[in-house]
Amino acid sequence: MILETFPVGPLQCNCTILGDEQTGEAIVIDPGEEIGRIQKRLAAHGLKLKQILVTHGHIDHIGGALKLKRLTGAPIYLNEGDLEQLALMHEQANWLGVETPETAPPDESLADGMTVGLSNYQARVLHTPGHTLFAGSIGRTDLPGGNSEQIMDSIHTRLLALPDETKVLPGHGPASTIGAERRSNPFLRE
Ligand SMILES: [Zn+2]
Repeated sequence: MILETFPVGPLQCNCTILGDEQTGEAIVIDPGEEIGRIQKRLAAHGLKLKQILVTHGHIDHIGGALKLKRLTGAPIYLNEGDLEQLALMHEQANWLGVETPETAPPDESLADGMTVGLSNYQARVLHTPGHTLFAGSIGRTDLPGGNSEQIMDSIHTRLLALPDETKVLPGHGPASTIGAERRSNPFLRE
């Protein structure tokens, strides 16, 4: 399996490409910006985009999704709870001092328990509302959509329930594992 993560845009959102060399299928997670670069990486691996998955509706994660959809025909998946963030796209852009990207409602809601991903590498969606885990930290709760009770509940009941060896690819910053965060993340001490 091809797994490539690289930061895009001024807020350095981690964009992830997952691809299957056998079938040539790929998914892209959080194409916030730099769509040309994402397309070049897909082409370099000989991959055809099947799904665009967006973890949440903040501009740095969703900003390039519609552009990528138009170029590839791949559908966009985003939890319907984040439609309110799409409605705030102009305000989000103003806070950052950037142009408002064009967005559109998703083709499908990225709902808890649904199966997404590649034919041979299927994945199950774990809904973790409130922004969640970073290596050594947790998501900001001061931004619209952030919620400190929800975030701790999501982390404790959904993420820490996973086996220690589970890889964590946060939306920003370095990768980690559930075990490493369980042991050393200062926000998870009770
Ligand atoms: Zn972000």
